Amino acid sequence: MKPSLIVHGGAWDIPDEAVDACKAGCLEALGKGWKILAGGGHAVDAIEAAIVVLEDAPVFDAGFGSHLNAEGKVECDAIVMDGATLRAGAAAGLQRVKNPIRAARAIYEHCRHMMLIADGAEKFAKENGVPLCQPEELVSEAEWEAYLRCSQDEHAAEHHRGHEQGTVGAVAIDKEGRLFSATSTGGTCCKLPGRVGDSPLIGCGCYADAEAGGVSCTGYGEALMKIVMAKTAVDFLRQTQICVDSPAGASCSASTAQVAAREAVHLLARRTHGTGGLILLDRDGNPGFAFNTPRMAYGYVALDGNFVTAV
Ligand code: ASP
Repeated sequence: MKPSLIVHGGAWDIPDEAVDACKAGCLEALGKGWKILAGGGHAVDAIEAAIVVLEDAPVFDAGFGSHLNAEGKVECDAIVMDGATLRAGAAAGLQRVKNPIRAARAIYEHCRHMMLIADGAEKFAKENGVPLCQPEELVSEAEWEAYLRCSQDEHAAEHHRGHEQGTVGAVAIDKEGRLFSATSTGGTCCKLPGRVGDSPLIGCGCYADAEAGGVSCTGYGEALMKIVMAKTAVDFLRQTQICVDSPAGASCSASTAQVAAREAVHLLARRTHGTGGLILLDRDGNPGFAFNTPRMAYGYVALDGNFVTAV
């Protein structure tokens, strides 16, 4: 099967001055992931490599440069999900893991549970070869300044102006047809300590089912959770595919991936009045994306092999 890869760097009001850095991050993530897929490598290695690039780039809200909580601390969440088995590995409330996706993968591969939080997740990650760091190592100067402005005044979007950032995500299918999705985030800025959003929750911020497709979401977690957005998008994929598969479905559009992505965002807006976006691959590797925020950073490998990035 032909491999496929799509990544995102969050859906928000990305300011003009951050556009180039967002595109460059997506491009580098595609490059790292695609090298693995094009060489016949495993989809889980490809999404881990792509997400690590995005976590390390301070322009995104994941790993280093994550938003700080109301006490000035980073708390990261991440998940990886396997479309063949429906098994996931998820971690929430991480303060000492430089690349939270690695903790999620360790849980996916080695844990009898599917989700661990805080100290327990960090301990498990360390025992399974994921190095820990000092919490301060995840704090970027720009986020610290935004935090100070918010604490001296009150939390407000303009205090973050110039470095609004987004959650990151990736979906990949490899040559063997293995489908994986992943999402990693620092959550929302000035969140209460202990707050967990949609991102690490199966079905909310991430979902993968090889029968239909894989999804990674971004946006206002408290809204995305209400419609279980990633699973909802996969269900839309399933419906549109049934439509195309059936003899009576001749009038259905072939671009089922785009249709499903848009339907999920419409539902988010209609039922929650929330904002966000998502990326997906359908079971055949066709990319789809949609958002109702002013912008979303994303990139995918087109059919002709070219890397497409956009903000
Ligand atoms: N969905 C994330 C959260 O609510 C934030 C984001 O996507 O930027 O934690």
